[in-house]
Amino acid sequence: MRTLVWFRGKDLRVTDHAPLHEAAAVVEVIPVFVLDPFFFAPERAQELPHRMQFLLESLHSLAANLAHLGSRLVVVSGRSVEVIPRLAEQWQVDRVAAQRWSEPFGIERDRRIAKALDRLRVPFDLHEGETLAPPGSLLNQSGRMFGVFTPFARAFSREAFIAAPLPAPKSLPPVPADLGRMETQIPSLEALGIQPNERLQPGGEKAARGRLKAFLDSGLEGYSDTRNRMDLEGTSRLSADLKFGTLSARSLWHAVAERDGAGPRAYRNELVWRDFAHHLLWHRPDLLTQPFRPEFQTFPWREDAGAWTAWHDGQTGFPVVDAAARQLQATGFVHNRARMVAASFLAKQLLTSYQWGEAHYMKWLTDGDWANNNSGWQWSAGCGCDAQPWFRIFNPVLQGEKFDPLGDYVRTWVPELGDFDAKWIHQPWAAPAALRQRSHYPEPIVDHPAARARFLTVAKAHLGSTTTQA
Ligand SMILES: Cc1cc2nc3c(=O)[nH]c(=O)nc-3n(C[C@H](O)[C@H](O)[C@H](O)COP(=O)(O)OP(=O)(O)OC[C@H]3O[C@@H](n4cnc5c(N)ncnc54)[C@H](O)[C@@H]3O)c2cc1C
Repeated sequence: MRTLVWFRGKDLRVTDHAPLHEAAAVVEVIPVFVLDPFFFAPERAQELPHRMQFLLESLHSLAANLAHLGSRLVVVSGRSVEVIPRLAEQWQVDRVAAQRWSEPFGIERDRRIAKALDRLRVPFDLHEGETLAPPGSLLNQSGRMFGVFTPFARAFSREAFIAAPLPAPKSLPPVPADLGRMETQIPSLEALGIQPNERLQPGGEKAARGRLKAFLDSGLEGYSDTRNRMDLEGTSRLSADLKFGTLSARSLWHAVAERDGAGPRAYRNELVWRDFAHHLLWHRPDLLTQPFRPEFQTFPWREDAGAWTAWHDGQTGFPVVDAAARQLQATGFVHNRARMVAASFLAKQLLTSYQWGEAHYMKWLTDGDWANNNSGWQWSAGCGCDAQPWFRIFNPVLQGEKFDPLGDYVRTWVPELGDFDAKWIHQPWAAPAALRQRSHYPEPIVDHPAARARFLTVAKAHLGSTTTQA
């Protein structure tokens, strides 16, 4: 029995890897990673520099872990839909096994590969593992998808069975010697035309375990109190690990499930939100191109190039919004609260399509994930499933004062405001003139009350409803 275990970028680990675990029990295992030009053509890779850096590091770590177990990561180039069936035929494998993807293009890729493998009479086994509950497995009483988080979460706690994570295999058989000359190397970032960014989190399973341990030791207990504070290291920073599978969702769930208290409860709830986002995209693949609420399809977004540039360069004159933009480009990460404020600001105060922001985040976030990012943006713009209502508009000043009370988050990312104390840092335009003149920080590109009123007028005319303030 010869199994090709296909690693595909969301499962870059040897622990709790169902296809590898199962294959380890058979005689021959060939672990494969395909450098598909869909992601690895230099012009495509340059569209996701931070994700690519994390991915390449995680691939090296996976290769080292497989070598440690006695095997080897076989890296090949080409379009997956062609390469996998070709390898299956040439290497005369009995089975191809992989972890399922929930995005529409992953589903379509797998459908085509399953068809090609079927012609060769090679089974294609797709294992669950991306989420806690398999996408599509939780339905409401009418047998339809949940459109609201709370009933989804209730069904999750009632019905989802989260099996214990699988251990890493103790050893693996060596890769067969008769594979021919298909192999290539993991490319370097430089070969893909990407400048390495030293401020990114390191990829790989070992680094993920280190982050998990640090969070369990000192972050989890206080998580419910600190998770919204932009100025504190109050969250797990495991989103890229979940995205690339350097840590499985269920390993994380079980590590946290052993603890009781408000922190662990709040944390588990966030993991259920992650499942919810994947569940939504599974049922509604069209969400990657259109809003959940159809009335937003024709929403009259503006195309103001100046406002857009100011937003993505962190030059709007609104400190939290600018800190988020600069943190993103510098480190590939933005605190969740800052993501919400910045996203809401783009869609509402600047009346710019959430899809522009969604694409920009997918370019720069290390944890950039189709399901979570799409649901985060649609939530913030008010056009998503169970979203922030369109008429609730974050006030970036109040949000800053509440969730960055001393201004440390802003001071870190907007050094021009380094001399501003907490009283002025979230509304520098109101600070004494001498302080403002010294700082060279831009004036606000919009007047918040006027921009808020503009959005409400436009949205009410388009959608109709009442208003309130967040
Ligand atoms: C506009 C916008 C865009 C976003 N884009 C992404 C994205 O591309 N990738 C991504 O993983 N998350 C995204 N999020 C959700 C959230 O901001 C990040 O998951 C979180 O900030 C990651 O940091 P952490 O691991 O320290 O989170 P923690 O607070 O420690 O949360 C634990 C885990 O729960 C999951 N999670 C937390 N919040 C959410 C949420 N609202 N929706 C879905 N899953 C969640 C993540 O996997 C996270 O790692 C986005 C949110 C917004 C508002």
